[in-house]
Formats: sequence, C-alpha cells, structure tokens
Amino acid sequence: MAKLLEGKPIAEKIKAEIKLQIASLKSKPVLASVMVGENAGAMSYVRSQQKAAENLGIEYRLEILPSETCQETLIEFIKKLNLDKSVNGIIIQMPLPAQIDYKKISQFITPEKDIEGMHPANIGKILFGQTKLVPCTAASVMELLNSTGVDLYGREVVIVGHSEIVGKPLALLLLEKFATVTICHIGTSKAGKLEEHVKKAEILIVAVGKSGLIKGDWVKQGSIVIDVGINRVADKIVGDVEFEGAEKRAAYITPVPGGAGPLTVTMLMRNLVRAAKLQQ
Ligand code: NAD
Repeated sequence: MAKLLEGKPIAEKIKAEIKLQIASLKSKPVLASVMVGENAGAMSYVRSQQKAAENLGIEYRLEILPSETCQETLIEFIKKLNLDKSVNGIIIQMPLPAQIDYKKISQFITPEKDIEGMHPANIGKILFGQTKLVPCTAASVMELLNSTGVDLYGREVVIVGHSEIVGKPLALLLLEKFATVTICHIGTSKAGKLEEHVKKAEILIVAVGKSGLIKGDWVKQGSIVIDVGINRVADKIVGDVEFEGAEKRAAYITPVPGGAGPLTVTMLMRNLVRAAKLQQ
C-alpha cells in the first residue's frame, strides 16, 4: 500500500523557511492582488492567499477594479504597480471578464514582480537552468517529489497534461535534474497511446482535469504518483487517477484533495519573498 504524499506538512516546513527569509528583509514584503470584478470563485482563492500572507507576516493588498474595466486600463494599472517601490509582487486573479486576455496582460507585469512565474522571461530562465520565480503548481510538484528523497537522475517520468502552468514548466524543471521526461496530452490519448506511456512511468504526474482518466492498473508497481487534477464528482473532490487501484501499486501517492493543492499558495508566498530579495 502506498505512502500518502501530503502537501500540508511540506508546506509547514517551507513556511518556517519563508518566515526566516522575511525576518532578514529590510521591510515587510507586499503582495498586490488585482481582481477585475468581484467573482465568488476568485474570492475563495483570495481569502486563502490573504490568510497565508497574514500568517507569514506579508502585507496582502487587494485591488478590486470594476468589472467593466477594459484591457488598456488594466495594463496602465499594472504599470503603476510595476513602478510602485512598495510593491514586491503582483498577481492577477482569475477568472477575468471576457474583454480581458490574461495571456496579453500578464506579460505587462515586470518579470521582477511576476510571482506566478508566468512571464516569458521567467519561463525562459527555467530553460537555462536559472530558476528564480517558478510557476507555483510546477514548484509544488517538485517539492512533493523532493520530500520522497527520490533521485531524479535518469528516472522515467511521465507527465500527463501539457499546460503552461503545470506540464510544460515541470518538464523543464525535471530535465534540469536529468530525468527522462515524456509529456502526454490529448493527442497521446487520441492516438490510443496513453496507457502504454503511463505504464512505464517510475514517476507519474497527472494534471488534466478528468476523473478516472488514469486507471489504477496502469500504475507501475513501486512508482510515485502525483495527481494534480481537481474534479468535482457527486459533491466530492477527486483527482484524475483512480485512487483505490493506484494506491495498491504505487510506493507514494498524493491524496486529492490534500496533495499539491495546499502547497501552491505557499509557493506563491515563497516567490514573493524571493522577488523581494531580488529587488533589494
Ligand atoms: P489545462 O486545461 O490548461 O490543460 C489540460 C491538459 O490536459 C492539456 O495538456 C490537454 O491536452 C490534456 N488533456 C485533456 N484531455 C486529455 C485526455 N483525454 N488525455 C490526456 N490528456 C488530456 O489544465 P490545467 O490548468 O493545467 O489544469 C489541469 C488540472 O489540474 C485541472 O483539474 C486543474 O483544476 C488542476 N490544477 C490544480 C492545481 C493545484 O494547485 N492542485 C493547480 C492548477 C491546476
């Protein structure tokens, strides 16, 4: 039976390190969180970020703009935050109203304050092995792997899902550790090859958003399974991997909820403190 890879205890350790880092800063770090229109889904993220910031001694500045704000106005607002020396990190809350294209506006956040690690300059740094501000979910997965003590060198890693926030940056981080990385996606499934790839994974990371996509008996004996997927099924939150079958075969497996999720907000705060240090 697999050991559970829970995010919370890892997050607690990292929070203790963040507190030490904050103590060494000249002033309390400030996170500017920009929301366009009030949205219930986004508000629940904001509340958990606010709580995490408060517990760590970070100032969380919530800026709510009217829902009819146009792209140009939002870009001007971001530019002001870029110039504001009291602000160390900027995050744009999702979802955004239809008139705003996240990909376009997120590039206006100066790379030094891009604590979500999504600016092309920060993604480019990962390519060259100079990781400073890393996308939070990818960083969470790396911490979960790290906690198992596994040596990634030469390991057969299969990632299912190739999004900009999880699969793609994660592949670069794993390559940096000399893992052998396969990235699967919808094209792999449509070609009928998902099962064959998953079955060879010594480390399997899944971030798709489809419950039951990965069958329990596809999971290799003794492997590490990180399930990033979040799906609501009959009032329960489940991942993308069939947990009951997979836990009988894997050596380690993340619970859903409770695996990558609790770490993500901690990674955001770690990025903020890294950004503040870089700015000093
Ligand atoms: P996305 O929609 O941007 O990407 C989904 C990926 O899955 C794509 O690469 C797509 O090609 C692939 N895919 C879709 N159907 C597939 C299939 N049948 N077979 C194989 N691959 C398939 O999603 P995302 O934003 O990366 O999020 C993925 C999941 O991770 C979601 O459930 C999301 O809620 C969750 N998530 C969790 C956290 C966390 O902190 N735990 C953070 C981010 C995302």
